[in-house]
Amino acid sequence: KEKLATRVKQLKPSATLAVNAKAKALKAKGIDIINLSAGEPDFDTPEHIKKAAIKAIEEGFTRYTPVAGIPELREAIVNQIAKDYGLTYVPDEVVVTCGAKQALFNLAQALFEPGDEVLILAPYWVSYPPIVELAGATPVIVSSSKENNFEPQTEDIAKAITEKTKGIILNSPSNPTGQIYSRGFLEELAQICQEKGLVIISDDIYDKLRFDGQGPENILTVAPDLREQTVMVNGVSKTYAMTGWRIGWAVGPQDIIKAVSKIQGQSTSNATSVAQKAALEALTGPQDCVSEMCNSFKRRAKLLYDEINKIPGLSLPEPKGTFYAFVDFSNYYGKKAPSGLEIKDSLSICEYLLEEAKVATVPGVAFGDDRFLRISFASADEDIKQGISRIADALGKLA
Ligand code: PLP
Repeated sequence: KEKLATRVKQLKPSATLAVNAKAKALKAKGIDIINLSAGEPDFDTPEHIKKAAIKAIEEGFTRYTPVAGIPELREAIVNQIAKDYGLTYVPDEVVVTCGAKQALFNLAQALFEPGDEVLILAPYWVSYPPIVELAGATPVIVSSSKENNFEPQTEDIAKAITEKTKGIILNSPSNPTGQIYSRGFLEELAQICQEKGLVIISDDIYDKLRFDGQGPENILTVAPDLREQTVMVNGVSKTYAMTGWRIGWAVGPQDIIKAVSKIQGQSTSNATSVAQKAALEALTGPQDCVSEMCNSFKRRAKLLYDEINKIPGLSLPEPKGTFYAFVDFSNYYGKKAPSGLEIKDSLSICEYLLEEAKVATVPGVAFGDDRFLRISFASADEDIKQGISRIADALGKLA
């Protein structure tokens, strides 16, 4: 008998794993690897947030909580959405999850099924297609180009819609591109979603990490009429340097949120009690840490952008948020390394840079565009400078 379910056999292994494993193996051998592949802030969780969790432990706040999260955290989330987005929700329209990733997973389980198609705009976050597939639905990818700052043409989105299309997943500011969708694009897209009755999942996880000083903006802020068909996903991982705490949430129409809670109630139950207290402090405590971290990412984005622009053949739109740059390396495809390794795609160039330059990046194929590498600037200035300089030297050896 087959041991494993078809579901897991069909699940594609993460393309980032091979590079990661290799980077780790090289590091373990004592080789000086510069890691520009991080998917998380390089800051420690702010002290006042840690203290709130310690207090929660000491006070014995260590039992099950309501599945959808403690009321005061759901209230704080509602208040933050009112402040940031000018949108009014009640705590019953919020479910707290084990990270934004679980919010996305549970939403896909609640909304999508075999026969459904879900639009995903490339370059996309690696987990969107598998999350849709694990719900039995089919991801439909709409591509974009760096010349348009990775904003797909709305005609292409309209063309991709069939009678099977159930929903669309949006992410701006975007992992991996560091770009932000324009208001004009969101308005046009909102019209399409309204006409076609699509469910919209708006992944706003990087909403506070934008470099233009503007407040968060998503499809609901430009088209509040879409409220009944939109769910917003967010969390504390990126904004407050809390990736390990695993607190995220989904906010949307009560029927969808109830469905997500029902799934959660039969799988993980509540998110960790003490981590919820830490997230509560993150949202309601001092916010200086957010602007400090954002300013630091903004400075490093500029540093990375300027350094990359010195290298012939590489190009990218300047990052406008997050801590990622998506860089076009395809001018080097077709060349050969001194070792004989042929550079033919994002995996081979990524492997070459790891071996030759000792710099870890993430191949664009994982994000749906094989011409690019994702380079993270959640690293020390010196690592960014050295890393890019090593990449330049390695590229110079290709013929
Ligand atoms: N969505 C995007 C676009 C992300 O980049 C990530 C993390 O890398 C997540 C969601 C998941 O975040 P969390 O740590 O809250 O699960």
